[in-house]
Amino acid sequence: MSAPSVVIVGAGAAGTAAASQLRKLGFDGDLTLVHGEGQVPYNRTTVNKTLLQAGTTLDSVRTVLPNDPRTSLLSCRAERLDTERRTVVLQDGTHLSYNAVLIATGARPRLLPGRKQNLHAAELSDRTTPLRTYDDTERVRQVLATIGSKHGRSARVGIVGASLLGSETADALKGLGHDVFLIGAAANPMTRHLGTTIAAWVQMRHEEQLAGVFEARVDAFDASSDGITLALSDGTKLTVDLVIEALGVDPEVDWLRDSPLTLDDGVLVDERLRTVNAAGGYAAGDLARISGSPRIEHWGHALAQGGHAARSISHDLQLTEDPGPFAPSGSYSTWLYGKPLNVLGSPHPHRDREIDLAPTGNEARVTLYTSTELRVTAAITLGSAKVGQPTTAPRCRRSADQGSRRRGVHHPQGANV
Ligand SMILES: Cc1cc2nc3c(=O)[nH]c(=O)nc-3n(C[C@H](O)[C@H](O)[C@H](O)COP(=O)(O)OP(=O)(O)OC[C@H]3O[C@@H](n4cnc5c(N)ncnc54)[C@H](O)[C@@H]3O)c2cc1C
Repeated sequence: MSAPSVVIVGAGAAGTAAASQLRKLGFDGDLTLVHGEGQVPYNRTTVNKTLLQAGTTLDSVRTVLPNDPRTSLLSCRAERLDTERRTVVLQDGTHLSYNAVLIATGARPRLLPGRKQNLHAAELSDRTTPLRTYDDTERVRQVLATIGSKHGRSARVGIVGASLLGSETADALKGLGHDVFLIGAAANPMTRHLGTTIAAWVQMRHEEQLAGVFEARVDAFDASSDGITLALSDGTKLTVDLVIEALGVDPEVDWLRDSPLTLDDGVLVDERLRTVNAAGGYAAGDLARISGSPRIEHWGHALAQGGHAARSISHDLQLTEDPGPFAPSGSYSTWLYGKPLNVLGSPHPHRDREIDLAPTGNEARVTLYTSTELRVTAAITLGSAKVGQPTTAPRCRRSADQGSRRRGVHHPQGANV
């Protein structure tokens, strides 16, 4: 009997983690990764950070794949999944048959409504972009460089969406010397993710550092010889050289529309990350949703799910033991205005009690969330964990883990960026 073959559609965090894990588990059949972009697979979290800096190469942020003769990487988009014939059909007509398929095509950014129908759609799309792929970064870098070389000044950049991605991008572009205008529809939108204390710190930094912070909607936008003009709901007219759309994402599932998979805010999977309604199918990362739980869009979570999906595949191919159910974690890390921000566990600022442990006169902060029974449910650290209390962060992680485990949640260590 020939060795089984595994196809992984999507070579991002989840797909590449799954490929490496499968080889670690001893899977020695054909392994094909399909990457829908022209470049080598890379770390997506750098797209709005280090990759924005002129001179940063794709090579410095590429992801490592198994290097063996039975692993192949195809740069092509998947067009269709035929679960009956167990085949993935690619845009170039290639048919890939599989014993197991991992669906890991991530998410696609939302665009400003009406952008494509606008009379000046072509001019707009030169200077209006989401920021999710290496190509998007290239476009941004090009506009910034052209403004510098043609007009001899820094660029005026409007960022629409002031949540985590918009805030990180604002910080990065300000750091590169540009005039950034941040536009968010709600007052201090980070409160929902980071609670009042740390969100207020972020908002204060935005107001200190950026050229403008607006609590408004974009009612209309158009291209002119001066750039892109945004009409905001508070009456402001803002002309900028570049608009970045940071409006959130939707699961990248269009290519699965004709399949029998259950698509309900992502690809619905069971606790072992097996797809519902299609044997031999698995899903992981930004697009996977475990029945009864929300989708999670973080790097560490996608890595952990990719690894777990690989263990489920390996078990179902009768190579290894049952890994049991996947236990999700909302933990993630990033940087804002020069400070590391670590979110441990899944904070529910609207529900849980917030305790701020900032040492007086110091910007480093630790916010704990406790349930009504005063059990630590999550923790957020901002700045050096060493400031004030050398062991605060590890202790918080342990407490948050224990609190969450009691609720059936597990936090993989060290998987975050
Ligand atoms: C700019 C940016 C910064 C971020 N920063 C952070 C951060 O600091 N910390 C953090 O925790 N998270 C961060 N995230 C979120 C994190 O990057 C994602 O949660 C993670 O990449 C999701 O992994 P994934 O494997 O599900 O999808 P992705 O990494 O998006 O990979 C999707 C893969 O599918 C491929 N693909 C898509 N459609 C098709 C198709 N039809 N056919 C074939 N291939 C296809 C793509 O080419 C890609 O290979 C950031 C996200 C962005 C966009």
